[in-house]
Amino acid sequence: MQMETNFGYIDENYRRITYEIEEAKAKYRKPSEEITLMAVTKTVAPEAVNHAIGCGIRTLGENRVQEFLSKKEFYLPEAEVHFIGHLQTNKVKYIIEDMTLIHSVDSLRLAAEIDRHAARVGKVQDILIEVNVGGEESKSGVSPEQLEDLLSEIGQLSYVHVRGLMTIPPAGENEKFLCQMQQLYLDISSKKMDNIDMDILSMGMSGDYAAAIRYGSTLVRIGSALFGARKYQ
Ligand SMILES: *Cc1c(COP(=O)(O)O)cnc(C)c1O
Repeated sequence: MQMETNFGYIDENYRRITYEIEEAKAKYRKPSEEITLMAVTKTVAPEAVNHAIGCGIRTLGENRVQEFLSKKEFYLPEAEVHFIGHLQTNKVKYIIEDMTLIHSVDSLRLAAEIDRHAARVGKVQDILIEVNVGGEESKSGVSPEQLEDLLSEIGQLSYVHVRGLMTIPPAGENEKFLCQMQQLYLDISSKKMDNIDMDILSMGMSGDYAAAIRYGSTLVRIGSALFGARKYQ
């Protein structure tokens, strides 16, 4: 007999998270605004990911190319997949056909490589620009000061379409950086740059998603609060 894994904890976590999202939304946002709950799947077995899809998750976030390639054939088809991890230019070709959105673009070089492969496979790839809002050495992302120049260069590419911004704010003084990110997002929006849209602000993780919703997030990326603490091999 096959072992049945008990994923009841995922149901419970999903209910709590969606409740808290609705609560933050009711407090800080317009009823018409939609907030996407992404399930971040790094280290999580496909069976658990599929259980979350069964709960109602329709967006998965993948960090690692290799891990995604080994799991993708097991995923239920109802959910779209986004890439949220650091992406090397030489790996773009492996994921270009599978990703609805790539959140982690922080250089013209990477955007140009995505553009080249998107043209090859006949799609326009939606992307977000990752911003290193806290200016941390250890994190990827373009600095707030360089964002606008990068956007005007990427706006020239025909097969990528910028849809918004993504960030991982510093652990301390979280609200200050969430607020700065919202300002940056609104600022760029108001400039109406060529081929640049600002309709997605990807910010908020397990520890700060309610605060991120307060500061305008449209997509929260949740891993451990949904699936439990990650077990790295
Ligand atoms: C792992 C990860 C998350 C989720 O982190 P949790 O704190 O477990 O919710 C979100 N975004 C990115 C880019 C990640 O790498």
